Amino acid sequence: MKKLEQLYRQIIMDHYKNPRNKGLKDDEDYQSEHIKNPSCGDDITIQTKVEDGIVTDIRHEGSGCSICCSSASVLSELLKGKTVEEAEHIAENYLLMLMDKDYDESIDFEDAVAYQGVKQFPARIKCATIAFKAFQNTLK
Ligand code: ZN
Repeated sequence: MKKLEQLYRQIIMDHYKNPRNKGLKDDEDYQSEHIKNPSCGDDITIQTKVEDGIVTDIRHEGSGCSICCSSASVLSELLKGKTVEEAEHIAENYLLMLMDKDYDESIDFEDAVAYQGVKQFPARIKCATIAFKAFQNTLK
């Protein structure tokens, strides 16, 4: 278990230090959603581009703790290229997993599995979920 926790921490720090798909686009084809988490100072914007029912691009920008910023990067890699339906299903089940509820265990969460451990720290759950909640809102 210790090894696994170390691996998860490495994944989170890697995305925090080298965020993927960072930086917003000035393009009206992107839907934006901005969410703040006052309890931690996290402030994140997610941008999503959908073409023919497929999420073709996800961008993010913001500031905050390592969990929040890294999860936006993980999200962008995990859900880019998925259909809107798949992306919604994965995002919903990621939130269920972090809330310690029943979720679809057949999903390959890729690097997002690293946030499983966050459910032990209720104060940090919001940090690990706001990027995904913002993403869900971009699809509405
Ligand atoms: Zn945070």
